[in-house]
Amino acid sequence: MNLENVKRVDPDVAMYIEKELERQQSTIELIASENFTSEAVMETCGSVLTNKYAEGKPNKRYYNGCEQIDKIESLAQKRACELFGMDHANVQPHSGAQANMAVFMAVLKPGDRVLSMDLSNGGHLSHGSPVNFSGLYFDVKSYGVDSEGNIDYDNVRSMALEHKPKLIICGASNYSKIIDFKKFREIADEVGAYLLADIAHIAGLIAGGVHPSPAGYAHFVTTTTHKTLRGPRGGIIMCDEEFAQIIDKAVFPGMQGGPLEHIIAGKAVALLEASKPEFKVYAQNIVKNAKALAQGLLDNGMDIVGGMTENHLMTLDLRKTGKTGKDMANLLEVVGITANKNTVPNDPQSPFVTSGIRLGAAAATTRGFDENAMREVARIISEAIKNSENQEVLNKLKEDSLALCKKFPLYSNM
Ligand SMILES: *Cc1c(COP(=O)(O)O)cnc(C)c1O
Repeated sequence: MNLENVKRVDPDVAMYIEKELERQQSTIELIASENFTSEAVMETCGSVLTNKYAEGKPNKRYYNGCEQIDKIESLAQKRACELFGMDHANVQPHSGAQANMAVFMAVLKPGDRVLSMDLSNGGHLSHGSPVNFSGLYFDVKSYGVDSEGNIDYDNVRSMALEHKPKLIICGASNYSKIIDFKKFREIADEVGAYLLADIAHIAGLIAGGVHPSPAGYAHFVTTTTHKTLRGPRGGIIMCDEEFAQIIDKAVFPGMQGGPLEHIIAGKAVALLEASKPEFKVYAQNIVKNAKALAQGLLDNGMDIVGGMTENHLMTLDLRKTGKTGKDMANLLEVVGITANKNTVPNDPQSPFVTSGIRLGAAAATTRGFDENAMREVARIISEAIKNSENQEVLNKLKEDSLALCKKFPLYSNM
């Protein structure tokens, strides 16, 4: 990591960046929405492309001097379409939430009805939470998961028939099972709704062939680029050609000004990486590792919402331990493991306290963690929770997690 100029101009920020690198290298990252992007992606995002205004779309800009920018953005679009098997891609959304906002803007009028997954059951804020624009300006009905942590498709269908939504959203921030896009499309067709598949979490798994694709089923596909897809922070919207214009208009001038072309270039690089055979192996390893982590936790007497995971993440259910997600997420940080508190279905605790911890395998897999390492992580987590008052045990566990980080180094050339 070359920080020579930052060090000269702003030693404070340079120091914080160095300390953050050290934190990432020396702790085990289990936040399910995080990952470690490649040095190539980071170099691209730190390039001169940050200087360029490029409102509009490739070859149809409001600014001059976009020759190279046009080539880069077109490349990113082409790669996204090829990787996910879709007709059209808009690679300009600054984030996943904005990608969703643009789809709402493209197909809905304020007050229109949406059917989506409840936030406390694993949905996302931007799918209709009352504190988000999507819940404030639209009439949102939500479906949840059953006691096994599965989407009840019969329930989704009966809600769709009852409420006649204009848009149905599938895709979640905390759902550990395979999503049946075909079933969702059948339900959408039955009530004349559009189907939006938000694959923010599972994009890398879809790209790597270990989760079915929504292509051919969803009218609109939104994603982030920084979760399992392992690119820079950002969003993408994909759709059939017939919706290309309304989507592009909703992104610009509907919601955004100038696109972040340095990030779009980073997306292009990440999409190329995700199309390689190595990425398929990576995606397979994520799922293997998540299963090894889940099995390790179960073997140590822990509960997991819905039991065995089918993707990259799971929610540890702490209810029977009498401990809270908030306290245990803080405790894990003490032993060198980063994760976030999360509600479990029908959580007796508030969303700020919670009874669960969401755990994901994508970031650890990037640094080379294998199934044995994940079983060791499961042991560290379980012992920490069982010995949360025993400083001596916690100190030892912290050493164990540091030993794993040393065994699987991250950004070792920086
Ligand atoms: C993370 C996530 C988003 C939002 O992405 P941001 O880039 O944080 O705005 C949207 N939808 C789902 C399902 C997500 O998990």
